[in-house]
Amino acid sequence: MGTLRQQIATNVLTVTRFRDLMKSLEAARPNDDLEIIRKAYEYSLKHHAGQSRASGEPYLVHPLEVACVLAEMRMDPVSIAAGLLHDSVEDTSVTISDIREEFGEQVAHIVEGVTKIGKIDFATREEQQAENLRKMMLAMVDDIRVVLIKLADRLHNMRTLGHLPEERQHKIAKETLDIYAPIAHRLGMGKFRGELEDLGFRFLDAIAYQQVHEAVEARRKQGEAFLATVERELRERLKEAGIGARVESRIKRLSSIHKKLVRQRITVDQVYDMFAMRVITHSVQDCYAVLGIIHNVWRPVPGRIKDFIAMPRPNFYQSLHTSVISDNGTPFEVQIRTEEMHKLAEEGIAAHWKYKDGPVSAKDEQRLAWLRQVVDWQRDVSDPNEFLSTLKIDLYPEEVYTFTPKGKVVVLPRDSTPIDFAYSVHTEVGHSCVGAKVNGRMVPLRHKLHSGDIVEILTQPGHKPSRDWLAVVKSSRARNKIKHWLNIHQRERAIEIGRKLIEKEARKYRISLKDIKDQDLERVASDYGLGRTDDLMAGIGYGKYSARSILGRLAPPGTQPAAEAEEHGLASVVRRVFGGDANAIAVKGHGDLLVYRARCCNPIRGEAIVGYVTRGKGVAVHSSNCPNVTNLLYEPERRIDVQWTRDKEEGLPAAYPVKLTLFCDDKWGMLKQITAVISDAKTNIRNIEARTGNGQANIDVILDIADLKHLETIIAGVRKIPGVHDVQRLQKI
Ligand code: MN
Repeated sequence: MGTLRQQIATNVLTVTRFRDLMKSLEAARPNDDLEIIRKAYEYSLKHHAGQSRASGEPYLVHPLEVACVLAEMRMDPVSIAAGLLHDSVEDTSVTISDIREEFGEQVAHIVEGVTKIGKIDFATREEQQAENLRKMMLAMVDDIRVVLIKLADRLHNMRTLGHLPEERQHKIAKETLDIYAPIAHRLGMGKFRGELEDLGFRFLDAIAYQQVHEAVEARRKQGEAFLATVERELRERLKEAGIGARVESRIKRLSSIHKKLVRQRITVDQVYDMFAMRVITHSVQDCYAVLGIIHNVWRPVPGRIKDFIAMPRPNFYQSLHTSVISDNGTPFEVQIRTEEMHKLAEEGIAAHWKYKDGPVSAKDEQRLAWLRQVVDWQRDVSDPNEFLSTLKIDLYPEEVYTFTPKGKVVVLPRDSTPIDFAYSVHTEVGHSCVGAKVNGRMVPLRHKLHSGDIVEILTQPGHKPSRDWLAVVKSSRARNKIKHWLNIHQRERAIEIGRKLIEKEARKYRISLKDIKDQDLERVASDYGLGRTDDLMAGIGYGKYSARSILGRLAPPGTQPAAEAEEHGLASVVRRVFGGDANAIAVKGHGDLLVYRARCCNPIRGEAIVGYVTRGKGVAVHSSNCPNVTNLLYEPERRIDVQWTRDKEEGLPAAYPVKLTLFCDDKWGMLKQITAVISDAKTNIRNIEARTGNGQANIDVILDIADLKHLETIIAGVRKIPGVHDVQRLQKI
């Protein structure tokens, strides 16, 4: 705990800084309510009391400086408040619910996002992993402000990195270069990226940094004099041409020079954009005019003219670049852009904060085109703060980023399951996968993974993939591996099915398979040109040969089966379907073959149905439009034609449970009208549940339905009730 003296020191150091921050905010944002910032400051002051940083300064300095960076970026008060609170959940006893109570949902949501990202170890050695980690970070947050606060946090930590032990410096600097600087780049924040890269370079490779630094310093004086000369000349030419423009000159950043030296294996003197000038104009035409003027004065280096105005970079950076040779032979680069392009290049996504009230103009629309690629633009925005809160990131909507327990990133398609994860780790892990833990908790194998999940796969040697998995996996790798395995093992299963069919057929002759001699089977097999009994059984299982004709050749002469027409293959096994109770259905004439309604679609009488021979569980009857059917029935020989029995046969269930969801207005008397329609149709209601909100209601109702016609009557009746918007049948109950 802090002593009184420390507390006083904290106050002295930070109060002035905070007062300055508030003053500048009041000037820059006269219409904003800044109370939330003051409150966040005091909250942070209270909860970080007594903590100090590696520098020995009071901890509060850090969140306060982060808030100042955010203020400089002209972020909204919510972000600045969240910046002040960003470490409070991680480093103090404060919880997210405390923050939510004190500062509301938005601040809490942002602080939560920052805390979540803070827990991830982004340290990595591989370039490919770094790319995945960056994507994952962006995929994990749904509010762009989380990323911007994280960047501001990192910037201040990098500025004060010198106080940490060297090993930590390396790790943090590398992470900055791998993860944070590229994200700033992706978001078009050139200035941020530049500072992060220079700081990262300095701490990661102090020797190289020193060398480049010295080389640049040795040339600085001369360089600055040179730049002053060309700048003067350019200004004159622009004036002559009547073009109003700002001219800036600079020496290239150390990290960029270093990158060039390494990549192109050149010396500092060969870097011909070490000296750079920037001309900032009022219009695009002026940009091209300035380019012409420059090429008139100095000789351009061939192949160095780049038109990023016509062809913007992926992060929507725009400028004209050219390299020219001065009169004394020194090359230098010129970047030409409009004020708008300049702002965008420096601040990127942060350049869009300062929206005036009123509708977004067509020009703004155009300017924000790139932003829309980055964010999901949902509503019209009148208030700049609201604008910010609508910036929802969905940069990689098709992917989720998950981890192995050891921290390796596994990228999967959206809605992937632990099975996909298991196959991406190793084929064998996939095949023998029996369960999974996500973030330490057991989940079903069909559980959908989210970015940031840590996934642990439980395996059992000898366990086999299930065909049902095909209905839930999302990655083509998992799908292919499962199909491949199934194809290989298909024969085994065909043999199994063949045996069962023969057994069943044999029963009709009142003989058991055991009574049939192996040599007889072998004889029949060779009659069919097959070498082995197993081939014969597989043939039956595949539906190539009919069990009946095979048995006809095996049965003792004179034995007759029950009189029925010769049927062919599996497709004729099941003819008609009816049931005992709702889920167990028998097949007429094949009472021993268990048929049941598939639970994924629960078909009812009157619906088009298909049967599918499962392994050991009998025949599953699906609705023919069940989504699982396409996945389950690609093995055509397992498909069986089934049909409903004629109505009202003995043992037939009177009704099947069917679940409906009704979407309707939440108004008085609605439920009464709905139940009236249902009871008019003489229908039993098994269960009814309603959820309401925003004046709308979703009502789930389970009804006893006799057949499709009955169901259609009820749906049509309910639809007619005023205020009912939609009725959907839920296949799964
Ligand atoms: Mn921090």
